[in-house]
Amino acid sequence: MSKPGALPGATPATAAKLAQLGIRTHSDLVLHLPLRYEDETRLTAVADLRPGVPAQVEAEIVDASVQYRPRRQLVVRVHDAAGGELVLRFLNFYGSQQKQLAVGRRLRIFGEPRGGFLGDEMVHPRYRLVAEGEALPEAMTPIYPATAGLSQLALRKCIDLALQQADLGETLPEPLRRKLRLAPFADSVQLLHHPTPAISLAELSGRAHPAWRRIKFDELLAQQLSLRRAHEARRAKTAPPLPAKGALTKKLLGALPFKLTAAQRRVWGEIAHDLGQPHPMQRLLQGDVGSGKTVVAALAMLQAVENGHQAALMAPTEILAEQHWRKLSQWLAPLGLEIAWLSGSLKKKEKAAMAEAISSGRAPLAIGTHALIEEAVDFPKLGLAIIDEQHRFGVRQRLTLREKGKNPHQLMMSATPIPRTLAMSYYADLDVSVIDELPPGRQPVLTKLVSEARRDEVIARIRDACDAGRQAYWVCPLIEESEKLQLQTAVDTFERLRAELPELKVGLVHGRLKGEEKAAVMGAFAAGEVELLVATTVIEVGVDVANASLMVIEHAERFGLSQLHQLRGRVGRGADDSVCILLYAHPLGETARARLKVIFENADGFEIARQDLHLRGPGEFLGSRQSGVPLLRFADLEADADLLDAARAAAETMLRDYPDAADRHVERWLGGKRDLLKV
Ligand code: ADP
Ligand code: MG
Repeated sequence: MSKPGALPGATPATAAKLAQLGIRTHSDLVLHLPLRYEDETRLTAVADLRPGVPAQVEAEIVDASVQYRPRRQLVVRVHDAAGGELVLRFLNFYGSQQKQLAVGRRLRIFGEPRGGFLGDEMVHPRYRLVAEGEALPEAMTPIYPATAGLSQLALRKCIDLALQQADLGETLPEPLRRKLRLAPFADSVQLLHHPTPAISLAELSGRAHPAWRRIKFDELLAQQLSLRRAHEARRAKTAPPLPAKGALTKKLLGALPFKLTAAQRRVWGEIAHDLGQPHPMQRLLQGDVGSGKTVVAALAMLQAVENGHQAALMAPTEILAEQHWRKLSQWLAPLGLEIAWLSGSLKKKEKAAMAEAISSGRAPLAIGTHALIEEAVDFPKLGLAIIDEQHRFGVRQRLTLREKGKNPHQLMMSATPIPRTLAMSYYADLDVSVIDELPPGRQPVLTKLVSEARRDEVIARIRDACDAGRQAYWVCPLIEESEKLQLQTAVDTFERLRAELPELKVGLVHGRLKGEEKAAVMGAFAAGEVELLVATTVIEVGVDVANASLMVIEHAERFGLSQLHQLRGRVGRGADDSVCILLYAHPLGETARARLKVIFENADGFEIARQDLHLRGPGEFLGSRQSGVPLLRFADLEADADLLDAARAAAETMLRDYPDAADRHVERWLGGKRDLLKV
């Protein structure tokens, strides 16, 4: 297959544009499939145009002029054979275009009509000069994903050349293809690029056509194959075996004020077993907010230490890292273990001291933020790297922590549950443990949707709760566009609440506080000295204060679903009945309404994540930065779940029985995108 730079028919400028679309090889061009199709096989009379319905018109130019109101634009009036008049508007146009669109020329115009001031008009329609009586195309016209400066025509030319020159040979072994009743690859791509006249627009657009099914299957298969290869590569590496000895873990278990839940025991068993293997563990520990992942992490760390190795735990925020540090110190200090603490806000001298404790090997345990990977810290004996709230980190950062050691075992933790279909595709390389049970005595959180207009009642409710000795959170409105505005909003909210609730001790925590200031506020809240904590989403993950039983989220409609779920998880941790009040402002958009409905109706993180995926689609749900795996372009994990299952099974068969075909398949789909695959 061709190498990058060998794109057929592409000048360097075109090649650069193609690269912007992720197209680097012949195969990439072949797999650059139409986004949609347009029906140019028929002409519509201007009189029959309907607003909003794309259509093709053939007409002659009767007038063309540049107008300056409301802004500079080229306005072209055309008449069709029946005398209907249509206005074409071009807000951006070239001089050459102006010349081309001269009175008397005949055009075929494709666009979406709308009712304008002067009658029917189209803004920026596609058009082409034609001679009278020129034949209409017989098949649907493919419309490709394009980019500025790369026309449909240029793309079509490149793709058509690639279709002739690329190897369209079958990568699926024939028996497999037959068993799965899939259309041949070459036929499928040819048909999708050049649909035959008999195929209707509806058939092509629905993506249920056998040709689309084949492509979607192939895409999923390529993903499965590459993930399995990554998995095998990992199995081929050696890691220090850290078998369960029990010396320290048993002590911790004995000293805990609670007993592990059955689910915690089960996942702990899975992790303990993996750690004993001579291959690096790569396990994702999933558990809903509050399910008790931290203690499992502590046990894993101790098993590493029992074997004379170091363990590191990295968390995405200073607040969370600090809290882990406190909790683990409390649990582990009685065992006589030194825990190094590293965060960006430490003074230079403190940092140096911590780094020394780690590099000398004296501190077997290290907890921190990104500082763990950013600072010049050596871990001479890193056996286990743990990443909490892994979805908050990029692939690069996760890799960097791992690279601090020599193939250490890795445990990732997340409260953002990944629905089964996603886990099977994007995370196929990970082993997954799930804590599917909450510690006993947890109270379900009552969720209320309250309109902003009833803010006073909410204030009164906070007063009552605090009078009764409980504590509350007030989450400030989210201002994603601007950090400065976010900060300002937090300060304003704090001031306002302090004025409204003068009898309460109110604290404020936001991302811009210095580490020690943050720690002071959080410490005061944990100790009950602050009764109402006004906070930005810095408290979203991990913060754990059992006496806080009321949470108010202002402008809840601005938050994402997983954010809302995580925030809500901060309450319901003690014995008291907990309430989460979602304050919303009118008018609610459609998706905001849908989100609030989901969070109101569901308490289970998995169900919420599933619905979130449904509302947003996997691209946004994951972000390619975080998954490190190319996102699917054609297959839809929900709608094509059957294909995903089939692709998974086929990947296994191919790797076992047809390794060469598997190679060719991965090369075809991912050959030009290898840099993305180093997960
Ligand atoms: P998360 O999974 O969200 O990280 P944490 O590890 O912070 O949850 O645990 C939440 C709270 O539950 C902590 O206070 C923790 O000490 C407590 N906890 C953990 N496991 C148990 C258990 N088996 N029984 C009772 N409490 C537990
Ligand atoms: Mg946690």
